[in-house]
Amino acid sequence: MQRYTVTQYLTAINSLIDGLRQLEMDGFCCTICGSDDHFAFECGHNPLVAMTLCEQMARRSSQLHDILHHLSGYNKRFGATTGPAKVKLPRDGNHDDPT
Ligand SMILES: [Zn+2]
Repeated sequence: MQRYTVTQYLTAINSLIDGLRQLEMDGFCCTICGSDDHFAFECGHNPLVAMTLCEQMARRSSQLHDILHHLSGYNKRFGATTGPAKVKLPRDGNHDDPT
């Protein structure tokens, strides 16, 4: 796991403080990085944006994981695989005769 320096923490804290000055779309440049094509709440240097994206990715990847298990028929019930895309492999490896 990445460890962060005091300088990195202070940069993040200062970015939060800069972002706090632009809570609404006020028509001015981003108060964090100075760009004129976005506001502080959507800035890639805003630690809150990074935290939100990370949480969304974790939640969605967990959902995707569960969906893939369901679709692949991984879940077992009464000794049989379930799921709409369950795979029944041929016994002898011959794909022309899947029984
Ligand atoms: Zn910015």
